[in-house]
Amino acid sequence: MASIGGERMHCELEGLDCPVCAQKIEDALNKELGRNEVRVNFPTATIRVPEQHIERARQVIARIEPGVRIRCPEDRGPERNGDAGVFRRHHLRVGLAVLAFAAGWLPRLVTALPAAWGTALFLLAFALAGYPVIAAALRGIGQKHVFDENVLMTLATVGALALGEYPEAAAVMVFFSVGETLQAAAVGKSRSAITSLMALRPESAHLLRDGVDKVVAVEDVSPGDLIAVYPGERIPLDGVITSGETSLDTSALTGESNPRPATIGDEVHAGSINGGGALQVRVIRGHDQSAVARILDLVQNAVERRAPVERFLTRFARWYTPGVVAVAGAVAILPPLLIAEQTFSTWIYRALVLLVISCPCALVVSVPLGYFAGIGLASRNGILVKGADVLDSLVFVRTVAMDKTGTLTDGRFAIRGIETEEGFTEDDILELAARAESRSNHPIAEAILRSAPNRVNDSGALEEIPGRGILLHLRDHRIAVGNPRLMEAEGIAVRSGGNTEVFVAVDGSLAGKIVLGETARAESRATLADLRAMGIERIVLLTGDVEQPTAKLAKSLGIEDYFWGLLPEDKVTHVENLRRGSNEPVLFAGDGINDAPVLAAADVGVALGGLGSDAALEAADLVIMEDRLERIPTALRIARLTRKRVLQNTAGALGLKAVFLTLAVLGLTGIWAAVFADVGVTILAVINSASLLRAGVSGRARKDLRTA
Ligand code: ADP
Ligand code: MG
Repeated sequence: MASIGGERMHCELEGLDCPVCAQKIEDALNKELGRNEVRVNFPTATIRVPEQHIERARQVIARIEPGVRIRCPEDRGPERNGDAGVFRRHHLRVGLAVLAFAAGWLPRLVTALPAAWGTALFLLAFALAGYPVIAAALRGIGQKHVFDENVLMTLATVGALALGEYPEAAAVMVFFSVGETLQAAAVGKSRSAITSLMALRPESAHLLRDGVDKVVAVEDVSPGDLIAVYPGERIPLDGVITSGETSLDTSALTGESNPRPATIGDEVHAGSINGGGALQVRVIRGHDQSAVARILDLVQNAVERRAPVERFLTRFARWYTPGVVAVAGAVAILPPLLIAEQTFSTWIYRALVLLVISCPCALVVSVPLGYFAGIGLASRNGILVKGADVLDSLVFVRTVAMDKTGTLTDGRFAIRGIETEEGFTEDDILELAARAESRSNHPIAEAILRSAPNRVNDSGALEEIPGRGILLHLRDHRIAVGNPRLMEAEGIAVRSGGNTEVFVAVDGSLAGKIVLGETARAESRATLADLRAMGIERIVLLTGDVEQPTAKLAKSLGIEDYFWGLLPEDKVTHVENLRRGSNEPVLFAGDGINDAPVLAAADVGVALGGLGSDAALEAADLVIMEDRLERIPTALRIARLTRKRVLQNTAGALGLKAVFLTLAVLGLTGIWAAVFADVGVTILAVINSASLLRAGVSGRARKDLRTA
């Protein structure tokens, strides 16, 4: 994926309802600007352009796709009404075309009416429905896009007119434009279902200043300000509760439906709903830094990472259409020349049917939409997927590697005991350890800080060594707090027992150790069983901890493959070894502490508890918002379901095409049926893709999610 610079803007593209147009705009702009800087996103109807090029982009788009308008964040305005006008005119035109088409049949039924009226009405219907298509085809030819679907339709219908098949020509254009209208509606609907996520952020907040409560825009609230959140309201900004207690509904953010109690001192996130009493919250992040803002940003970018199938389709469409035109040409010319008693008019007609059927609409519309819906479904389940390509890799995962602490265990260590050497008390050991751990966010540090007699601040220089521990330089002393590997590096021989232990050494000699224990997550066993049942063949535990506690945990969970004593970079090596010899992607799941490198190195890096850690959000491909391990199988199911829908659509569309192409060449079908089938399969495919979003919500689809 190309790196995306900071000064690029995300703008909306209004009226973007065909993916081929999206690709055309992207290609044209990248050619014009000379670099690979522009991304057009069909499912979200957005474009990313460098800010200084927006005017150029506007002009280029106006030239190649006059129906599409670019709207950037600052140019909100009254123009929207203008678009509604365009929309109404479009519907009116299509409606009139349908009427004229229907009326065209009257003279055939009522013999008293002159036949010429029928022809005139069919021509009227043709012109009303077809003029945008023909205009686009001419523009396409002007731009040297000789082979797009508009050109196909125009060729086919003008050909039909030349053969005197007026009803046929009108039917093609009328069905095509009705189909496009329905399709645009379906696309628009699923788009808004997914982007409704964006509505999670309230736009205003109750700012408390000098005891007065004033409603202001979230942009005007800064970190440090105090805001009020009343019962039933959405929390507008990330902050810490300073008064009141409540139960929070975080379902929109994390997919977790159980309310969570929160009270003074707890952090709350923008987007959750205050289900209890009135709160006062000290804001800790600006509105564009909030967790939900970052999530939305990631989702926006997610759609820009295309799945291999999508990339294939784009290339496929470039070759496919010219190929079909060539075949149609051959069908029109060769049989009459080579076979006796075959007329040109019969074979030209068959070639025209072929042209109509060949439109790859169903595929190019439904496939990106399917991935988009899959990403949307995942985010409804509290799973952030960073790209369509990630969904695809997930499908092929057969090897899962996991971190221990915070992933298979609940990430809360308890102190089981403290052992001291001559001259040190238990409190000394705890205090030294707490000083060293005062700035670490490792679960071990949390446990020690929880138990420390009083909150100590470090009064020296700290150095955290990932996977080993901490060095503290306190006055003239060198204090090492960490595992046997750290002690080894300090030249101290230690014996480790059967537990996770933190050794404390002062100036090169051992002062004592803290013995810790952690418990497996309640859901670990069931999740692992679920993964195995889904066809995951190998589950591997990778940890930086010592052997015995690792072995104990692995045994209790039924994991046979486990590796211990690993530094973060050793985990990377292990993941690479797991992949060796096969092309199957490897999934690594971790809590994001000390495992950013391996999250990035794995084909699918899964970070748990994403609302907490920035590094994990950055490095992972998939972020599970709530700290829930069982969302990993859910993510696999969503990926499989998405791919199933995409394949269904592809197979359905291609199969139907194959059938109709054969029928067309044999002369068994007319243009009518061809268009009808094409429009029908497109709409079915769009609905099939979009309905993914509802999976897991309705009863039947929930079953899909379980059995996919
Ligand atoms: P895991 O792979 O189990 O998540 P980590 O890679 O985070 O473990 O850490 C591996 C080991 O390094 C821990 O078991 C611990 O012994 C030691 N360690 C890491 N960070 C710290 C710390 N802040 N304080 C003490 N020990 C630490
Ligand atoms: Mg860890």
